[in-house]
Amino acid sequence: MLGVLHAFAEIVSPVCCAGCGLPGSALCARCRAGARLITQGDACPRCGAAVEASTCTECGGRDFAFSAAACAGRLEPPLSRAITLYKDAAERRYASLLGSLLLDACERWRGWPDAVCAIPPTRAARVRRGFDHTEALAHAVAAGLKVPSAGLLDAARRPDQRRLGRDARFANMAEAFTVRRDAQVPGHVLVVDDVLTTGATFDGAARALLAAGAIEVRVAAVARA
Ligand SMILES: [Zn+2]
Ligand SMILES: [Zn+2]
Repeated sequence: MLGVLHAFAEIVSPVCCAGCGLPGSALCARCRAGARLITQGDACPRCGAAVEASTCTECGGRDFAFSAAACAGRLEPPLSRAITLYKDAAERRYASLLGSLLLDACERWRGWPDAVCAIPPTRAARVRRGFDHTEALAHAVAAGLKVPSAGLLDAARRPDQRRLGRDARFANMAEAFTVRRDAQVPGHVLVVDDVLTTGATFDGAARALLAAGAIEVRVAAVARA
């Protein structure tokens, strides 16, 4: 029945390419070819930024609680538009596109994680959007890497980050997550989110997981701002 409903929805309102608007797919072949995805071998292993020089200017001098980061692409069209449509316009048909890009970025870590965990949105954000936008991304990566998707974290306190400077963001996020009371935290945890900006959110999540027994935390985002 669900399949019939999906097919009907595709006829009435087909999913459109996040790049050019062409109906039929979330990202058409031409726009996919033109999207500047980050080649993982050339990216900064610490923060996932695309770096041309031998030292990364994005994360210099900063210690992260996570040991490595991977990002699928830069936060620019068509990726940024796909994320906006998915998150803020509740166009959930973009989940598989974003999930598969994220999985590609994590491919070199296959065999490493014991579980994949999403950065949980705040309750207010989940209510506003009507769904948990990061959960589907974690499910896609976990299924692809053949490990469990585990809801290990709760958003404890998450003041708006947008007006804060870099150092304030890290301080702000240090206690932003709690590990769920019934959670069994495995040794190697891969944490995923839609966007990595300063790394403060991932840092806060990694801190909570390490304090609860994780040995190592790596992180991955669809886009690097
Ligand atoms: Zn297109
Ligand atoms: Zn870096």
